[in-house]
Amino acid sequence: MSLKFAEAQRIKNLPPYLFARIEKLIDEKREAGVDIISLGIGDPDMPTPDHIIQELQKEAANPANHQYPTSVGMPAYRQAVARWYARRFGVDLDPAREIVTLIGSKEGIAHISWCYLNPGDTVLVTDPGYPVYAGGAILAGAEPYYLPLLRENGFLPDLSAVPEEVARRAKMLFINYPNNPTGAVAGEKFFREVIDFARQYNVLVCHDAAYSEVAYDGYKPPSFLQFPGAKEVGIEFHSVSKIYNMTGWRIGWAAGHPDVVEALGRFKSNVDSGQFQAIQYAAIKGLTGPQDAVQQMQRVYQERRDILVEALNDMGWRLEKPKATFYVWAPVPAGHTSESFAELVLDKAGVVITPGTGYGKNGAGYFRVALTVPKERMLEALNRMKKNIGSVKF
Ligand SMILES: *Cc1c(COP(=O)(O)O)cnc(C)c1O
Repeated sequence: MSLKFAEAQRIKNLPPYLFARIEKLIDEKREAGVDIISLGIGDPDMPTPDHIIQELQKEAANPANHQYPTSVGMPAYRQAVARWYARRFGVDLDPAREIVTLIGSKEGIAHISWCYLNPGDTVLVTDPGYPVYAGGAILAGAEPYYLPLLRENGFLPDLSAVPEEVARRAKMLFINYPNNPTGAVAGEKFFREVIDFARQYNVLVCHDAAYSEVAYDGYKPPSFLQFPGAKEVGIEFHSVSKIYNMTGWRIGWAAGHPDVVEALGRFKSNVDSGQFQAIQYAAIKGLTGPQDAVQQMQRVYQERRDILVEALNDMGWRLEKPKATFYVWAPVPAGHTSESFAELVLDKAGVVITPGTGYGKNGAGYFRVALTVPKERMLEALNRMKKNIGSVKF
């Protein structure tokens, strides 16, 4: 029986789910007993460090933490974030006015659009990109204008190519470096251009820094907020998810312009009651405690990255090793689309890779693999690809 209540237009406007076909194929393979190896999921496979888990256990037992927390987060948590920013980036933040706690950065990324976009407004979104930027904006009734991320531009958006009338009417810009899905990184020159653009056109910059600690070969990605004028035009989203293998814990933050932080906090006070205080204490432990687990994580991903890139290059790719993120973004061989290649790899090797089109139109011709599987499984996946697909041409 069909439901007689129509969905709201904002739900109908969300883009269709793309991977139905591939997921059906995965299910069929699994049913047929194939040992599927997924390189598709960007979710750390390593556990949260012990000292963080122990802090949760201790604080979960404290009745003081059993009541409603505040929507914007405990002062102690926001202070820990401020100290971490000072230590890591040399950025000075006022914990009371310039930081708001989030239930994972995804929550804030989706809700910031509700704070600043009216129906019909234009928002600049990079393509390919994390789907939540456009999703949140569409739910708020706004219209994303997609900025292509092209290999020839190092997967940075070319702001000088944004048509004048689009730049004038745009209210927000979402960017994300180190970047999911391309693995690209951005430096001072790019962030200064972003700040100039935001000033010139009065655009609110939303920078997603989720991967700032997932970097290799000694590279330390910057924060958007460390560049002059950034705090006047924008906000940065971040979380402990990828720093301490805490994606399931759901705790992050937004930091930057106090008016934007206040608006997000006001929005949240109407839709959620914040994150469990015991989880806030655990995140404080992560941010203020020993950081050797972070270096260990970087070493593990870096080894997997080297194995993966070298194996693909042996098969005919000519990939450079990404400096950050746990993704490798690679072109599909000649004669393939993103989908046909993902289907081929699944069919012949029992390996799941993500078609680039899942991240936007400009992801066409690419696929993404995640480094979040143990080395042995990754080697097995690569051996199967080598054996059953062989060498590739472009
Ligand atoms: C994983 C990820 C995040 C982090 O999301 P949380 O909600 O903080 O877990 C944010 N942005 C991007 C692009 C990501 O890939």
